[in-house]
Amino acid sequence: MSGKSAEVVVVGGGPAGLTAAIALAGAGVETALVAKPLGAPDNRTTALLASSVTALDTLGVWPLCRDDAAPLRVMRIIDDTARLLRAPEVHFAASEIGLDAFGHNIENRFLLAALDTRARALSTLTVIEDTAQAVAIEDNRVVIALAHGAPLSARLAIGADGRRSLCRQAAGIATDGRSYQQTALTFNLSHQRPHHDSSTEFHTASGPFTLVPLPGLRSSLVLVADPAEAVRIAALAEAELAAEIERRSHSILGRLEPEPGRGTFPLAIETARRFAVARVALVGEAAHLLPPIGAQGLNLGLRDAAAIGELVVEARRNGGDVGAADLADRYDRARRTDVTGRALAVDLLNRSLLSDFLPMQGARGLSLFLMERIGPLRRAVMREGVQPTTAQPRLMRGEAL
Ligand SMILES: Cc1cc2nc3c(=O)[nH]c(=O)nc-3n(C[C@H](O)[C@H](O)[C@H](O)COP(=O)(O)OP(=O)(O)OC[C@H]3O[C@@H](n4cnc5c(N)ncnc54)[C@H](O)[C@@H]3O)c2cc1C
Repeated sequence: MSGKSAEVVVVGGGPAGLTAAIALAGAGVETALVAKPLGAPDNRTTALLASSVTALDTLGVWPLCRDDAAPLRVMRIIDDTARLLRAPEVHFAASEIGLDAFGHNIENRFLLAALDTRARALSTLTVIEDTAQAVAIEDNRVVIALAHGAPLSARLAIGADGRRSLCRQAAGIATDGRSYQQTALTFNLSHQRPHHDSSTEFHTASGPFTLVPLPGLRSSLVLVADPAEAVRIAALAEAELAAEIERRSHSILGRLEPEPGRGTFPLAIETARRFAVARVALVGEAAHLLPPIGAQGLNLGLRDAAAIGELVVEARRNGGDVGAADLADRYDRARRTDVTGRALAVDLLNRSLLSDFLPMQGARGLSLFLMERIGPLRRAVMREGVQPTTAQPRLMRGEAL
């Protein structure tokens, strides 16, 4: 990086921003990452699909955290709605599509630590611990004003600054979306019985309740409920909480012991109307916010990072301007179908659970019934989940940029 300029500046040091910065710097692009100092530790975990793991491996990140991750070999969906039209239990096994695992589940703190270590080892990447205060878009560059340091200019700014993105706002990009009357409660727990590398999603009338394996006799939990109920459960004393979760999970993991740290996340869905304009591209939650159903959010964010990395490296090789409007158009087109398709599927699944409308419940039950009974359909759904046909950036295929 020369003086206070870089070719690309990434704003936001969450998992999507760190991955974008590593992808670019690893391919020789002079990159600056503006990252706020880390806040309180995050107790959430992320289920990374196999293609995301491949990308992190290709970037040299996965070897730094793979021992902290648990494989996801089986996924079960259980209809726990007690409604008239209930679906059969659906069982997906990675071995059915020739995979060892659908992906891996990892605590965010381990993933972030591995990303941070890799980022700091790259000589083409400058990490600036600061806060972006303003983003000025000019014809040939973008200038980021920082809270403490001197302004920083670049050809392209990648906005990885989360759901209240300053970069998105500065680029004048609106979003479409809405809030759900639901809150996700998350925490990790240890248990008496082994999980056998299997995640279990109970579909209840207030939203899904999912147990996802962690290494050893531990799992992470995401319980989606109406906001008052989520707050009530989050406030329970440890023994009461253990009993409540054991009851809701039908004791499949035996006696439970919740670990300290409970997080609550009000659910919303939001998609940016453009994922990029000249000089600014959005990745991760700055571009799309999804409820934590079906483990889509960060997997999409990593595909954003891989896609923008690929386009920037290609433009550079061809002597082009990495912040030009045509690159922004290509990035928007490359990400649109993947993001809107996943957002629609998650929204439909969630609404079909909440709905009291019998035909809606019937349609959900029928889809799950067909998936359980028809092997080729089930396998097609599994393959599409692990490796989306509409979005296969090079990194997700194990190819360096
Ligand atoms: C309960 C729950 C469970 C989930 N489970 C999964 C899962 O299993 N699989 C999955 O794929 N996804 C999952 N997700 C979604 C996933 O957690 C998010 O998609 C992901 O954390 C978003 O990462 P990000 O880097 O885009 O944003 P963030 O993690 O929000 O990072 C944004 C960063 O930008 C920084 N920032 C903001 N403004 C500025 C500024 N002005 N200057 C400098 N820095 C700034 C912030 O401090 C932050 O560090 C889950 C989400 C929830 C709520």
